[in-house]
Amino acid sequence: MVQADVKKPLARPVIFLGPPGAGKGTQAKLVCEHYGVPHLSTGDMLRENVRQGTPLGLLARPIMERGDLVPDDLILRMVEERIARRDCLEGFVLDGFPRTLAQAQALDTMLKTQRAFPPAVIYFNVPEDVLIRRLSGRRTCKVGFEIYNIYERPPKVEGRCDVDGGELIQRPDDRPEAIRERLLAYRNLTEPLVEYYRRQGALEEVAGKATVADVSAAVFSALERLEARQ
Ligand code: AMP
Repeated sequence: MVQADVKKPLARPVIFLGPPGAGKGTQAKLVCEHYGVPHLSTGDMLRENVRQGTPLGLLARPIMERGDLVPDDLILRMVEERIARRDCLEGFVLDGFPRTLAQAQALDTMLKTQRAFPPAVIYFNVPEDVLIRRLSGRRTCKVGFEIYNIYERPPKVEGRCDVDGGELIQRPDDRPEAIRERLLAYRNLTEPLVEYYRRQGALEEVAGKATVADVSAAVFSALERLEARQ
């Protein structure tokens, strides 16, 4: 993994853009650990709301299980509240947001209002067959949320987390019908954002098909290129 010896601050919001199963969550954790900034995954936030049975969780649950997108206004309220917190002052990584043009435009407005830097974008480009294999093989620890893949990164003991022995479960939206819907939603609503951000000149593309370590090296050098361009 390529990481700078001296830790420089991230200082600006970074968006991890790419289809479901591209490895955004795994890579976001590594970048956030390195820079000491928060990892804002709208999927994780929604799943937490579902677990706690909040009004937002109750509304979002059936939509998520189908693989559709949760309405923009609900997502935007959740994100706006989160990025206004103090821990986001030194930058943050957005994973799974924005997912529609309306969300991207609303984010631009939010960042301007907060006088934050405009976002830098890492786009994870991954072929569809790889995505399907990753999503259908994904298992998550019920206890510590460690992520495995039964094909590429299986646990030592089937169905159990290597770290804490927790039960490994499949997300309801990683079932075949939901995977199809999620990829469709990505292609129709999210993929146009690649051009939106490319035109703003703040996008770097990373081939996300390789191993976690190789993709991570590519992500860190893409971040350095984006920083040099700032
Ligand atoms: P993820 O963990 O990013 O794959 O998100 C899981 C599910 O949460 C998605 O399939 C959507 O139903 C919902 N979701 C997460 N982020 C967003 C977003 N930015 N906009 C709309 N729905 C979202």
